[in-house]
Amino acid sequence: MAQDKPHQNLAIIGHVDHGKSTLVGRLLFETGSVPEHVIEQHREEAAEKGKGGFEFAYVMDNLAEERERGVTIDIAHQRFDTDKYYFTIVDTPGHRDFVKNMITGASQADHAVLVVAADDGVAPQTREHVFLSRTLGIETLIVAVNKMDTVNYEEDRYREVVDAVKKLLTQVRFDTDDARFIPISAFEGDNIAEHSENMSWFDGPTILEALNNLPEMSPPTDAPLRLPIQDVYTISGIGTVPVGRVETGILEKGASVSFQPSDVSGEVKTIEMHHEEVDRAEPGDNVGFNVRGVGKDDIRRGDVCGPADDPPKVAETFQAQIVVMQHPSVVTAGYTPVIHAHTAQVACTVESIDQKLDPASGEVAEENPDFIKAGDAAIVTLRPQKPLSIEPSSEIPELGSFAIRDMGQTIAAGKVLEVNE
Ligand code: GDP
Repeated sequence: MAQDKPHQNLAIIGHVDHGKSTLVGRLLFETGSVPEHVIEQHREEAAEKGKGGFEFAYVMDNLAEERERGVTIDIAHQRFDTDKYYFTIVDTPGHRDFVKNMITGASQADHAVLVVAADDGVAPQTREHVFLSRTLGIETLIVAVNKMDTVNYEEDRYREVVDAVKKLLTQVRFDTDDARFIPISAFEGDNIAEHSENMSWFDGPTILEALNNLPEMSPPTDAPLRLPIQDVYTISGIGTVPVGRVETGILEKGASVSFQPSDVSGEVKTIEMHHEEVDRAEPGDNVGFNVRGVGKDDIRRGDVCGPADDPPKVAETFQAQIVVMQHPSVVTAGYTPVIHAHTAQVACTVESIDQKLDPASGEVAEENPDFIKAGDAAIVTLRPQKPLSIEPSSEIPELGSFAIRDMGQTIAAGKVLEVNE
């Protein structure tokens, strides 16, 4: 697969059972990007049965099987390319942790395809994912009105669903350009790679055309090194080895680095990636490394590694914009849920609710409200109960978003506006 094309991270979002997995399977199939092992397995089985050909159903069976086995690759992190771009599907909801992953940076999508089933129309998770996408900085949404085959490919039903989705998008100020709405059947393959004869009333793009026409993302920022630590190992012959993914900047052998909030520093001695020693690592690289003078008990999961002369910020308090997605009652000052940001999990107290925002315009609707509830957007000040390294999302978006969890559920998503150190 051509890797010299510009890269785009794509999320496939939408209500459960509306056809996200099927659409992913279809995209992989139509672009000839089905994982090698699936093709291999099929060749063997087809040979045994004396059959040739390559059926879409077979791809889906394999993806479903992987899902059932709980294989982590699942349908996330699959790749395919169009003429112009090389796409990675960064995550797909339906996994329990999707919302959390989407927020805490496991999946930094630039664009998303919102799948809405034509028979069901807008459903609760359609709404939730649209709100989240907005908060998390997804640039462009393509809306796929799926399962058109179940409504006899009727234009009237398509228009109804489009109108309902547009209403939702307007509320959160997403582009409602007609070019981004496409009636499809992921199952039958209508309007995915080729214009469907079943919907001659539609003269817009196919899904692949719309993906190919997405705006190019601005090049990665020249932000300083930020590497959230996932685990810390002791490896004989090497010593202490923190591991994690480089989110921004470059990790280089010989560089002076600092771990925050543990507040220790030293010189990078070795870097290992895929069991090989390397001199440097870039954003997206998963590495294990060793730092002179830093022992196993000096650092921990949730620390962020950065340059010693531009260390990660540690928040005394921070101001954030949040969207409350679900909460059985109301959120008031004094509430202390757990914040999940990058690899850190820290209880934080809502010190004040500064402003409630109008979700339609983003403008201030109320100063210092007494409470906020599900569906509300607000600016709040949070005080971590233990040191927490976090960054303003305007400076380092990768470390500027978080999930608020309580009672085993994601109750809100947020992005950091300001850090008071
Ligand atoms: P997800 O939960 O959003 O990933 O949904 P799935 O892709 O697992 O699809 C849910 C069900 O809808 C499955 O039984 C699919 O076969 C079916 N489905 C998905 N897309 C279509 C479609 O375009 N037409 C029809 N008739 N069924 C579909």
